[in-house]
Amino acid sequence: MGYRLRHCVECPECCTRYLIGFSPYSNGSYLVSVGVDSSEECKLLCSCRRTLVCSRWNRNDLKIYEVSKAAYALGYGSAHEIWLSTRYSNQGEEQRKGMR
Ligand SMILES: [Zn+2]
Repeated sequence: MGYRLRHCVECPECCTRYLIGFSPYSNGSYLVSVGVDSSEECKLLCSCRRTLVCSRWNRNDLKIYEVSKAAYALGYGSAHEIWLSTRYSNQGEEQRKGMR
């Protein structure tokens, strides 16, 4: 297998995709997990702009991506290196639960 399956978040500004759990990233971005009650949120502070982009995701809304080896080593990558897993995104919540 040349890739791994991982939960990722995508920066809405530059479309760089970040792997959960690899923060801080070597490009200066970082991801903060905020636990609120039972739901957990992730906040991405992306370095693509002078003013950090701040986005939030609910952990349950995170999609599963297929991550190339190179991107996995870095912890982030472009859409060419990290792409949405069609196999998993087409399947329901059961698969996502299995990933945790
Ligand atoms: Zn960005």
